[in-house]
Amino acid sequence: MKLGILGGTFDPPHLGHLAAANEVLVQLALDEVVFVPAGEPRLKERDDVTDADIRVLMTRLAIESNHSFSISEVDVLRPGPTYTVDTLRDIQGEYPGAELYFIVGADAALTIHAWHQADQLAELANFVAVTRPGTPFSETALRAQPVELIRIEAPGVAISSTECRARVPLGLPLRYLVPDAVADLIATFGLYMDLQH
Ligand code: ATP
Ligand code: MG
Repeated sequence: MKLGILGGTFDPPHLGHLAAANEVLVQLALDEVVFVPAGEPRLKERDDVTDADIRVLMTRLAIESNHSFSISEVDVLRPGPTYTVDTLRDIQGEYPGAELYFIVGADAALTIHAWHQADQLAELANFVAVTRPGTPFSETALRAQPVELIRIEAPGVAISSTECRARVPLGLPLRYLVPDAVADLIATFGLYMDLQH
């Protein structure tokens, strides 16, 4: 079994995540892509990350229409910060014998050298870098990473969770940027309303 893994904060999940995951699924003929919402953010860039159970719920809603997408809670169930080495070991436990393909957007691909136990990563999974608008693929920077990266060109979907969060207090729409069910849940729960930025 060829299993893709898309780790992320998913605060909120948006169509950029879904399009990137689906492009890799099809181009690499994967059997499934498992979305893995992070526990505590790996780098403390934000101290106002939405509760994990709400991010998990949003991710569930985001993927429900695609039978090739699934979700794993390994990262939210493990105490402490999320490190990809742990994600990969836990997913290997959940899917014994699967050949793992860890998917990152171009921005994340350029940071792999700084990840916890980065020298262990290559033996745990294949790594896939998918294009993302705003982050040019620099061959030199990609080659400087501690893993070999399979490069996938995806149609650019220029959406980020940061921009989705910022739109809410401005009264700007999330419809067509996130799945309808995710937009409805954000409105129902009043998420991101008092975001400071
Ligand atoms: P934030 O703005 O909060 O950082 P984000 O939109 O970058 O959110 P993350 O949850 O940080 O979303 O991303 C998870 C993974 O998905 C990362 O590897 C990221 O590079 C990738 N990704 C996110 N958005 C896109 C996109 N629009 N196109 C391609 N890859 C993406
Ligand atoms: Mg990000």
